[in-house]
Amino acid sequence: MLYIDLNGFKQVNGGMGHQAGDELLRLVAKRLKTSTRFSDVVGRLGGDEFVIGASDLTDIKGGAALVHKVLYNFGDPFTINGREIYCLQSIGVAHFSADGNTADLLIRNADMAMYAAKQNKTRPVVVFESHMLSVAAERLDIENDLRRVLARQEFILHYQPKVDSTTHEILGAEALIRWQHPEKGFVPPGSFISLAEECGLIMQIGEWTLREACAQFVKWRANNIPIKSVSVNLSPTQFLDRGLVDVVQRILTETKIDPKCLELELTEGAMSVDIERAITTLGNLRALGVKLSIDDVGTGYSSLAYLKRLPIDVVKIDRSFVKDLGNSPADSQIVGAIITLADRLGFNVVAEGVENDEQADILKASQCELLQGYLFSRPVDPTNLHPSSRLNA
Ligand code: C2E
Ligand code: MG
Ligand code: MG
Repeated sequence: MLYIDLNGFKQVNGGMGHQAGDELLRLVAKRLKTSTRFSDVVGRLGGDEFVIGASDLTDIKGGAALVHKVLYNFGDPFTINGREIYCLQSIGVAHFSADGNTADLLIRNADMAMYAAKQNKTRPVVVFESHMLSVAAERLDIENDLRRVLARQEFILHYQPKVDSTTHEILGAEALIRWQHPEKGFVPPGSFISLAEECGLIMQIGEWTLREACAQFVKWRANNIPIKSVSVNLSPTQFLDRGLVDVVQRILTETKIDPKCLELELTEGAMSVDIERAITTLGNLRALGVKLSIDDVGTGYSSLAYLKRLPIDVVKIDRSFVKDLGNSPADSQIVGAIITLADRLGFNVVAEGVENDEQADILKASQCELLQGYLFSRPVDPTNLHPSSRLNA
């Protein structure tokens, strides 16, 4: 049993309209059918979720061949309204009878494996394992609690300084959301942001975060804290929501923050589904006067040449590259190349995840202007935003 989820569907539906979404579903269904035999069952369970039941396969090898065929057939883009749409997918696999001996059980377990595939962008296909059941129970718990968290005011924002690589002066700070759960304690954003996207709560949470961070910045300024900008992360779903520009506009007006002091951090993934639309949205946001930054650069599918097409101001080098600076000559070269190219293309560069002096020194020598990481400060509550000992040194 294969459980298939389209990773770009919501973006197409939200961004290009429901008719385009319907068309995409039809094209996907066709491709799935061409990937299967007559004896296989291909079905759509709802939304962007499809299943393939291949009852004639006799061994695991046959299942693997089917998965490869499906992936291969999805390698080419879909053309919708004249635009090329890449619809990457996550696939969960459950085997009869090891993973279930009824259709219901197989579908449920393949769904769980699909969810694991979705969490992990480098593994589009995951085979069911029994420990996934407890993970799913935990997920349901968190989802129920998320629905109440805004009313109960359990979210807070912490801020992590971005410092000048030469003077170590704090130039900006990134707002990072924290959930203090009454029973579970601290729940990291990595484990609830994607859930919030799935259950439709991300716009509400995102709006809260944006308002809170802007209000905090205005307070810092009123208290003469010499900080130049605050940045806020936007999830892909937020970026693709049609209401986003209005929300940002409203919060700028409400909080009276100077728009050029607000930086929005977006991920490459949000841009790659439909670049033309991404360019339009970025342009509309920029017209409000805010700065735009691409987070986690280097981890997605895009190249810097592709980033050049986007009206953005800043790129953030992902901490996975910074991590091995000093130990891995290849990583040092990649980082050096990203910085040089970004600079030529007119972007400012921030390196994140800087943990030791060696990394900071290499980055500085490579002309990286801004550094962020535990070496300078962990994310802290807004009253503690001051230089660490390293900064005073
Ligand atoms: P990000 O935007 O790339 O944020 C950087 C993450 O790296 C943060 O994790 C931060 O605490 C961590 N970090 C900073 N310096 C270091 C370091 O020196 N070493 C290491 N190992 N890690 C460091 P955090 O707070 O757990 O956030 C994880 C991700 O969750 C963020 O990645 C961001 O994508 C998302 N996120 C956080 N807050 C929000 C939010 O308010 N809205 C949205 N949409 N996403 C958020
Ligand atoms: Mg970020
Ligand atoms: Mg990042």
